[in-house]
Amino acid sequence: WAKERGKNNYQFYTSTIQDRSLRKVRLENHLHHALEQQELILYYQPQVHIESKEIIAVETLLRWIHPTMGLISPEEFIPLAEEAGLIIPIEKWVLKTACTQAGIWLKKNKTLKIAVNLSARHFQQSSLIETITRTFEETKIDPTQLELEITESTAMKDPELTIKILNSLKSMGVSISVDDFGTGYSSLNYLKRFPLKKLKIDRSFISDITSDQEDEAIVSTIIVLAKSLHLEVVGEGVETKEQIAFLKRLGCSIVQGYYYSKPLPGTEIEKILSKGFLTE
Ligand code: C2E
Ligand code: MG
Ligand code: MG
Ligand code: MG
Repeated sequence: WAKERGKNNYQFYTSTIQDRSLRKVRLENHLHHALEQQELILYYQPQVHIESKEIIAVETLLRWIHPTMGLISPEEFIPLAEEAGLIIPIEKWVLKTACTQAGIWLKKNKTLKIAVNLSARHFQQSSLIETITRTFEETKIDPTQLELEITESTAMKDPELTIKILNSLKSMGVSISVDDFGTGYSSLNYLKRFPLKKLKIDRSFISDITSDQEDEAIVSTIIVLAKSLHLEVVGEGVETKEQIAFLKRLGCSIVQGYYYSKPLPGTEIEKILSKGFLTE
């Protein structure tokens, strides 16, 4: 179609593709050094109980500050890290750093949880349990205060293997959340057999929830499903008071989103946590 719109557009179109692959190559090359150069940092975003405004968990979100290209979103560099075979060392660093940094917060508040995202490859790696065990030894955090987030598609890649891994993690006291729920293809039969703690409703269903009846129906169904499976349910990406009121009415009691707080550096989160709850 670009060709039809004339020569300039055609050139614009192809150079955009070139720019994109050039950017990708530059990022991927540099990613090999990002860990040792200490360019990776962690942000944290609270999960809030709507009624009490209490922070019940904080999710760890990875950031990359590239020396010349600036802040790179995980949506962009996590797939590159996966392709380059760097995701496991990166996530080992995330686990250890998050548990170290959150150690003080978790000690002060025994009901608080720290959540860490795991890629499919790391989740399925045979040494995962060993890595987690070592993290507890090194950081001294209470295993019951760690929550691991895997996406629906990670969980469904090899469901029988998922059950085994989840059982091992559960026996250590670790709890599991299914992230971006609703965007993958879950077998309800497996969902019932997975020892899970939480479903996190993907933010794509939340953004128009107050005006889109189909989104409302989907969210309402996920909440009912979570309840019948005795799972906690979290609404992701809440940005307005109206969305929160809506979710609450549908029976969802925990939310995460910009409305309460954007992801923040550890020092900022620590200040909020020392108050114990969020104000609007
Ligand atoms: P996620 O785990 O679903 O995390 C939630 C994402 O939604 C975060 O994006 C967060 O900043 C964003 N978000 C939260 N509230 C709102 C809101 O109210 N409005 C909008 N528009 N966005 C909101 P972020 O930090 O860019 O991370 C994107 C994704 O990158 C994460 O999605 C997660 O899948 C992945 N990710 C981040 N850190 C890691 C990691 O250490 N390992 C792996 N495997 N993935 C990670
Ligand atoms: Mg997550
Ligand atoms: Mg999510
Ligand atoms: Mg996501």
